[in-house]
Amino acid sequence: MLDLAGIGIGPFNLSIAALLNETDELNYRFFDNKPRFAWHPGLLLPDAHMQTCYLKDLVTAVAPTSRVSFLSYLVDKKRFYRFLSTDIGMISRTEFSDYMAWAASKLENLNFDDAVTAIEYANGQFVIKANSGDYTAKNICLGTGKKPYVPSEFTSQLGDNVFHACEIMSRDIDLTDKRVAVIGGGQTGADIVLNTLQQHWGKPESLYWISRRPNYQPLDEATFTNEFFTPQYTECFFDLPELSKKREVKAQKLASDGITTECLKRIYQYLYQHFEVNGEQKWVHLLPNRTAQGLSPIGSGFSVQCHNSLNQSDEIINADYVILATGFESALPNYLEPLKPLLHLNDDGGLQLDSHFNIKWKHQNKNQIYAVNAGLNSHGIAEPQLSLMAWRSATIINHLAGTVLFDLSETQSFIDWTLPKSSHPLSLTTAV
Ligand SMILES: Cc1cc2nc3c(=O)[nH]c(=O)nc-3n(C[C@H](O)[C@H](O)[C@H](O)COP(=O)(O)OP(=O)(O)OC[C@H]3O[C@@H](n4cnc5c(N)ncnc54)[C@H](O)[C@@H]3O)c2cc1C
Repeated sequence: MLDLAGIGIGPFNLSIAALLNETDELNYRFFDNKPRFAWHPGLLLPDAHMQTCYLKDLVTAVAPTSRVSFLSYLVDKKRFYRFLSTDIGMISRTEFSDYMAWAASKLENLNFDDAVTAIEYANGQFVIKANSGDYTAKNICLGTGKKPYVPSEFTSQLGDNVFHACEIMSRDIDLTDKRVAVIGGGQTGADIVLNTLQQHWGKPESLYWISRRPNYQPLDEATFTNEFFTPQYTECFFDLPELSKKREVKAQKLASDGITTECLKRIYQYLYQHFEVNGEQKWVHLLPNRTAQGLSPIGSGFSVQCHNSLNQSDEIINADYVILATGFESALPNYLEPLKPLLHLNDDGGLQLDSHFNIKWKHQNKNQIYAVNAGLNSHGIAEPQLSLMAWRSATIINHLAGTVLFDLSETQSFIDWTLPKSSHPLSLTTAV
């Protein structure tokens, strides 16, 4: 009987496994359908960098002496000094992915190539039905990530030449002399545009970068914005009224969904060098303020129907390839189907998270179902990001153990997000 079964071994559950490895208190096993650890392999572009600092790794924020920290990785790989000499703030995604795969190889109780097909509950325990057999666990942690989001107007055209960005590196594409449209103005769209400019898939005839946003907007990485990615803000967020939570998430969009300044600069510098300095004929078209509203076949390619919200006009872009950098969405995984009648779901069918990342369900007083990457609406914008992954893992483990295995206390934040009840006007009047 496991204390914890983790479903999925992406970064978030891997971080929990890494911290469980620091203690002998709990008996665990994690399962992943992939043959080995791989971080969004379809999006592991040759030239793409992290949005977060390498110290926000699997463990460092709560267990800096762990043998699977990023610094341990550098030392193990014998490149510590040269790493420092690069003076890189945001490392490449390939290096971070390699670090996590290295960490996974050092940890025990990780079952790769072992998809979970169903989870059942009976007699105070979960039965995890995996390809390698059945396992029983007192508690489970759902970490199977999100699914690619494809707007409904594009689904009928999905195929060899129209696909979600998350598949780009697993397809054998040749964009030479093709008209290419990238839809989506976030980091993934930018990374694909940058790699296309560098002719990773050959030199296209033309490249259209379509974004609904009013411009190619930068990631907000300012000092005080980073306070949104702290445990204290997250704890404060959890207690806010629902309306305030919605407003905060919307207002903080660019703190997590903008494009890194470095990436924007590199795109701009490419355009400058090639079209201004070298005098090449312009083959790149930047189209912000455009909402792609439809896609239909025309000749051997496709026509993308766009609405330009700047001058309220309708426009058509013709392309041979349409790459949808349209993000990811939450969905209840199929393996939860047997448990579905026991879950207390939101009106929109989503999981409801409690403060310790445990979900609300019928037998919550006996057995816990934890969920990672499921709490944007309950815990705020840090939830789908790596920033607080180690802290969240430790929060879950402390709750599971019923004792403080990881000390998560902190010094006081510079910002008083809310003041204690004693300072509210009513309390002051009473005091007088
Ligand atoms: C391209 C990209 C770059 C990103 N870069 C950053 C960044 O720089 N900084 C940052 O803070 N955040 C970043 N993020 C956001 C976030 O950190 C990642 O999405 C992260 O991978 C989420 O981890 P996860 O463990 O929730 O899910 P995933 O990484 O999606 O992992 C889920 C795992 O579950 C497995 N699985 C699914 N179903 C089953 C099943 N039935 N049985 C067993 N296993 C299953 C999958 O194979 C997968 O291995 C990025 C996201 C993307 C898409």
